[in-house]
Amino acid sequence: MSGAPFPLAIDPAARPARSVPADLAARLRAALPEGVVLTEEADRTAYLVEERSLYRGEAPIVLRPRSTEEVATAVRLCTEAGVAIVPQGGNTGLVGGTVSAAHEVLLSLGRMNRIEEVDPLNFTMTVQSGCVLADIQSAAEAADRLFPLSLGAQGSCQIGGNLASNAGGINVLRYGNARELTLGLEVVLADGRVWNGLRALHKDNTGYALKHLFIGSEGTLGIITRAVLKLFPRLTDRQVALCALNDPSDALTLLSMARGRAGEAVTAFELISSFALEIVERHTGGQTPFAGRHPLYALVELAGSDRDGTLRPAMESLLESAFEAGVVADAVIAESLDQAGNLWRLREGIPETQKKAGGSIKHDISVPVSRVPDFLRRAGEAVETAMPGVRICAFGHLGDGNIHYNLTQPEGMEKTAFLAQWERMNAVVHDIVAGLSGSISAEHGIGLLKAGELLRYKDPVEMDLMRRLRDALDPAHLLNPGKMMGRGGG
Ligand SMILES: Cc1cc2nc3c(=O)[nH]c(=O)nc-3n(C[C@H](O)[C@H](O)[C@H](O)COP(=O)(O)OP(=O)(O)OC[C@H]3O[C@@H](n4cnc5c(N)ncnc54)[C@H](O)[C@@H]3O)c2cc1C
Repeated sequence: MSGAPFPLAIDPAARPARSVPADLAARLRAALPEGVVLTEEADRTAYLVEERSLYRGEAPIVLRPRSTEEVATAVRLCTEAGVAIVPQGGNTGLVGGTVSAAHEVLLSLGRMNRIEEVDPLNFTMTVQSGCVLADIQSAAEAADRLFPLSLGAQGSCQIGGNLASNAGGINVLRYGNARELTLGLEVVLADGRVWNGLRALHKDNTGYALKHLFIGSEGTLGIITRAVLKLFPRLTDRQVALCALNDPSDALTLLSMARGRAGEAVTAFELISSFALEIVERHTGGQTPFAGRHPLYALVELAGSDRDGTLRPAMESLLESAFEAGVVADAVIAESLDQAGNLWRLREGIPETQKKAGGSIKHDISVPVSRVPDFLRRAGEAVETAMPGVRICAFGHLGDGNIHYNLTQPEGMEKTAFLAQWERMNAVVHDIVAGLSGSISAEHGIGLLKAGELLRYKDPVEMDLMRRLRDALDPAHLLNPGKMMGRGGG
């Protein structure tokens, strides 16, 4: 038995070229339609910047294909030249995953933005990977369906980036993350072949689930070009409540009560620390509905597709029981969609307003849900000892055990002096996470920012398996080198 030969024989000992050959742009231009290959500095700049200005890209060539065939041609030509490729979606990842070096080519998927098919009967949608997440949500809604992936950057992040970083967001509790929302993928491999795994099957047990290798691989194993996504019944009723709490363990009890009583209807359960809410109020003019301050808040959402109004009484009864049990100190239920939007804005406004409150050292961690109170207590004590006066801006998806444990500079401290402590404070927090068998990156991935820390915290056997997979699929390390596994790991 013999398999199809590789279109390109890749020397496994080869490593990416240290410079882009002078004639590569001309070869790409000859093989690709006009407008795909950008080399002028003014045309490239938008693809080289990064939201937090932690990095600056330098790729001398930016490619903007419109089809899978164009991606495959581009990859083949770059691979022949031994030049590494950095895939870029909406560039909202925040961990330096799309940063390019001067000897690399940047491949932007943004023009691959066609929604190819919505199949309401199969509850699926087939899309190109450059589709903006919000456009996918709208297309699902137009077909009376729901695509539940939802996150702050949805107006600009792309589904290919969501899949490559296995994005989470506010509805993971009920629907799972990007991985759980994907039925099929099409991927351009490092050797230029196209793997067509674009199946719209809800059941398929014919061997390894290869799609899961590419989901969460941050562009290091292949370039995702198309996907078949799962759709769900559209939500027609939504009840949102903001609860004031005295203690993280009360938040955990409330979550457990909500899930016990309302089951699948619990679509979101977001934790908001007192400081996080305070800066949102200060910088956005938004207002909490409570008279006094409380140590902690939980935003609870119940949603469903039934039209018989059962969710409102369910929310009321949940909160009544929580009051009686002393779990909730105060609570309001939104009386209208507008009010629900206002409550959600208090949560969604946190990342933006944090910038106005000063420098911020970020942690995107997860621990088992039941260990969140323990994590918050231990981390609170440890960061205060390590840097007296540091302000803890913790918020996030308690329902998934995922907390954005961000630290805002102490009052009066210089921003640059504070940010110089980034790695030291990361170690303080991440050591506690590791001690609780948690993850140092729950949502945003590893990119460049956390490549060193991955080596420190990940099990060596797991790292070895990851490297072997990488070597098998991309032997010369031409796809997004240096990201995730660091320069040493390719
Ligand atoms: C305000 C804000 C809120 C956010 N909230 C959340 C949240 O709640 N949950 C969450 O999970 N994330 C969140 N993020 C992070 C970010 O939005 C997600 O990681 C998003 O999924 C990235 O999508 P993107 O298209 O911007 O990807 P990019 O940043 O462009 O790329 C991310 C990684 O994927 C690779 N990549 C991109 N496209 C492809 C492709 N087609 N094939 C192969 N590799 C590819 C890139 O090389 C890079 O390594 C937030 C970000 C911001 C700015």
